[in-house]
Amino acid sequence: MRACLLHTPAPIDMRPLQLSEVPTPEPAGDELLVRVRACGVCRTDLHVVEGELAAHRSPIIPGHQIVGTVAAQGARVKDFKLGQRVGIAWLHHTDGSCRFCLSDRENLCEQAEFTGWTVDGGYAEFALASAAFAYPIPEGFDDLQAAPLLCAGIIGYRSLRLTGLAEGSRGWAGARLGIYGFGAAGHVVIQLARARGAEVYVCTRDEQKHQALAAELGAAWVGGTLEDPPVKLDASIIFAPAGELVPSALKALDKGAVLVLGGIHMSPIPQFEYSLLYGERIVRSVANNTRTDGREFLAEAARIPLQTHVQTFPLAEANEALLALKQDAIRGAAVLLVD
Ligand SMILES: [Zn+2]
Ligand SMILES: [Zn+2]
Repeated sequence: MRACLLHTPAPIDMRPLQLSEVPTPEPAGDELLVRVRACGVCRTDLHVVEGELAAHRSPIIPGHQIVGTVAAQGARVKDFKLGQRVGIAWLHHTDGSCRFCLSDRENLCEQAEFTGWTVDGGYAEFALASAAFAYPIPEGFDDLQAAPLLCAGIIGYRSLRLTGLAEGSRGWAGARLGIYGFGAAGHVVIQLARARGAEVYVCTRDEQKHQALAAELGAAWVGGTLEDPPVKLDASIIFAPAGELVPSALKALDKGAVLVLGGIHMSPIPQFEYSLLYGERIVRSVANNTRTDGREFLAEAARIPLQTHVQTFPLAEANEALLALKQDAIRGAAVLLVD
């Protein structure tokens, strides 16, 4: 099969991914072999390729937002049929036995495997999935539209949950949500939040692409990353990997509000005055997702229905897709089309 291999992490402008011929993998007893049709491009892929996330294998095939069809399956797989359309996301496997798995927090599993980081991912014609971690894809989404749902969407969904809105009196109706950085996750989260009844305030770079898309998707207000929204916010999510946004985002929060950091990697957070946190404000991160997050999100996405905006690249141009992502040149989500 053709696959994009990363041998050694390097800055993306050196184009470190090499399109190569490699043997098609064979599924173990509990695995699916998936013929990849589309694979979303995530900022985490950029962190893997550039080495901000420590390398686990060399070479590695990145990519963890895979939509494809079941081409073969192991003898113990019961829930899928050959030819069925499935999605493969970031959480590849968990041990099911550590203290986190045993307390409904498999996203924090001590022995977790991650697609496109610790095991090969979807920048390729075929990929393996643990059947228990694969998702059926709702029919209303075509392959390209569905791909960004599998990380940008699922992590965005979990980030929204961790804002604590909708608990007790902090309901969604009329809630004021801030989004910092408006890429693939932001453009999904604004649709979820608005469908639940929230007002969304977006702080992001790039007037032409990100700010314009936020306005088009119904943001109540759109400004630059360090601008102050005109009202105090009930919760915010930072998707940009920029620690310098944390004090600015805290300043915009109302008392008792939660700031969620949605990325796997962030530049250092500068020092700030305790008064920005005082008033029972909370800062927390999001780490991975559970399968329950994935299933609940895909069901809600189909009900709304969400509309993803995608910019497609052929598999051979994976380096260019990641470079465009780094340069803020993607409107919505980048997706590799594998044919
Ligand atoms: Zn575990
Ligand atoms: Zn991702």
